[in-house]
Amino acid sequence: MFFKILLFDIDGTLLLSGQAGYRALTRTFKELFGVARGFDDIPVAGMTDESILTAALERAGVAADLETRARFHTRYCELLADEIHFPGPRKGLMRGVAALLETLSRCNDIRCGLVTGNFARPAQIKLEHFELWRFFHFGAYGDDAPVRDELVPIAVERARRDGVAVESAGDVVVIGDTPLDVQCAVAAGARSVAVATGSYNEAALRDTGAHVVLADLRDTDAVVELLLEPGR
Ligand SMILES: [Mg+2]
Repeated sequence: MFFKILLFDIDGTLLLSGQAGYRALTRTFKELFGVARGFDDIPVAGMTDESILTAALERAGVAADLETRARFHTRYCELLADEIHFPGPRKGLMRGVAALLETLSRCNDIRCGLVTGNFARPAQIKLEHFELWRFFHFGAYGDDAPVRDELVPIAVERARRDGVAVESAGDVVVIGDTPLDVQCAVAAGARSVAVATGSYNEAALRDTGAHVVLADLRDTDAVVELLLEPGR
């Protein structure tokens, strides 16, 4: 039996953490390196946590070996688990997400996974906070590769090892809110559905060559139909 695999981005697509991630990164950077506002003006949308950290370290002139990066990761996860409980701007699920995931979970030939720049543990912290973790069967994360383009094949391979195989690359759909989400879908020969609920509007996302551009994921029936269109 073949499946359709839907790979969701997290930030700006499923939810916004109300800048909990930003606050946790910033606190960690200050604690470990003594540098305030380490992540201000560093581009984050669509980037992997690994590349965001590298950019912040370079700007601050901090040389961090692998052990220091590992310490950063551990402390960041601890602080995110704390920060996620506090209010913040636009914190919450994107419209329609809960109903859509609930509906998709009842489709026998569909499996939902994640392709996110978040490190794996922070991804789980965010999704568990919003009670979405149970919907996702596999994923590829910011610790798996420094650039997003490499993540889709990793997620698809993990799915295959779990017995979730696709007939062709076009049966993989990447759902995300940035041009880099579209780009990583294209790189893998997957279909891309771009949603304008994050940092980019519909016009900007249309320019990326996404197969489908949506204002949001609110119309469950219409979105499911689009997601299940045959691969090309
Ligand atoms: Mg995003």
